[in-house]
Amino acid sequence: MKQYDYLIVGAGLFGAVFAQEARRAGKRCLVIDRRSHIAGNIYTEQVEGINVHRYGAHIFHTNSKEVWDYVGRFATFNRYTNSPIANYHGEIYNMPFNMNTFNRMWGVVTPAEAKAEIERQRAAAGITEPKNLEEQAISLVGTDIYEKLVKGYTSKQWGRPCDQLPAFIIKRLPVRFTYDNNYFNALYQGIPNGGYTAMVEGMLEGTEVRLGVDYLQEKESLDALADRVVYTGPIDAYFGYRLGALEYRSVRFETEVLDTDNYQGNAVVNYTDAETPYTRIIEHKHFEFGTQPKTVISREYSAEWKVGDEPYYPVNDDKNGALYAQYRALADGEKNVLFGGRLGEYRYYDMDKVIESALEAVRKELG
Ligand SMILES: Cc1cc2nc3c(=O)[nH]c(=O)nc-3n(C[C@H](O)[C@H](O)[C@H](O)COP(=O)(O)OP(=O)(O)OC[C@H]3O[C@@H](n4cnc5c(N)ncnc54)[C@H](O)[C@@H]3O)c2cc1C
Repeated sequence: MKQYDYLIVGAGLFGAVFAQEARRAGKRCLVIDRRSHIAGNIYTEQVEGINVHRYGAHIFHTNSKEVWDYVGRFATFNRYTNSPIANYHGEIYNMPFNMNTFNRMWGVVTPAEAKAEIERQRAAAGITEPKNLEEQAISLVGTDIYEKLVKGYTSKQWGRPCDQLPAFIIKRLPVRFTYDNNYFNALYQGIPNGGYTAMVEGMLEGTEVRLGVDYLQEKESLDALADRVVYTGPIDAYFGYRLGALEYRSVRFETEVLDTDNYQGNAVVNYTDAETPYTRIIEHKHFEFGTQPKTVISREYSAEWKVGDEPYYPVNDDKNGALYAQYRALADGEKNVLFGGRLGEYRYYDMDKVIESALEAVRKELG
């Protein structure tokens, strides 16, 4: 008999939820992570008493009562509502595009006036079949919003001008004809008091965790410890990139402590002009209504990705979709390994969806 029922590779949200449920069902689990900390990409660390989201801002939102109740077992959530603002050369606009945005842009007051203006701009552009992202965006929201709020931001995000990007990247642009600045349409939303790391710590309570251990470097000896493996690392890395590397977009963060108690008055500010090199500035304390004397900000720069860099956003085009399907077929042949999470399944997963997916996987697994 092996020492553990499950070796769980990755102490991120998928691995932690799986471990919590398997342990509650009486299974013996070992969780490992190659990083020096738990919580994967939702890791928060304290700097100047402020919970800093090291791998990018994370706002929990869900429509699922089951998931909301689930996370509520491990953390108390505050009332944070995501209302990002856009800074275009010093002009401030509310996001997502709503009546506050339209009023600031054109002076319109009623939804009928806003709709008429968008319609007028769409008609004037005369685009029937958008051939690229620029045409797609203009056909959805008109020229002004595109020029000031979409063009610079999106080209920085993808590292290419919008007329050289495929139209499919923007299927829809949420436009709201109410004065509602709440970014997410979710029923439940908030930030865990005390940060995400404490929440994941709660999920992993009672489970053995080893940090700084890279599964792929010690695969044989680690496999010998457990009957089954739950792998939440990159699927292509598992197979030694033998079919080639799946592509990602990456993000670089420049984090700074500032000697002021309030730098930008909002947690998230998007810089939508093309000239500012970063896409956003996050001021972490505002996620938890912090009153500390100092503040911590992170400038986010969109970055090209190469093997070895931190993978953030999968590139869901046909080429990568086909490559993933090939890796998936190889994964199906690994009878003792369950591939899960954002890297194991090469897909963008919001936190609530990754929890749902881990709960489903563990239910299937334990029967
Ligand atoms: C920039 C950004 C912002 C986001 N913002 C939001 C948001 O606001 N709201 C929201 O709901 N979701 C957000 N998400 C999504 C969220 O980050 C994911 O849902 C979540 O992190 C997925 O958890 P996971 O366990 O699948 O992956 P991860 O958190 O990446 O965990 C995988 C773990 O596996 C470890 N690992 C990999 N390979 C090995 C190996 N060989 N050996 C040992 N360990 C290994 C890694 O170190 C990592 O800790 C955002 C994502 C990004 C990229």
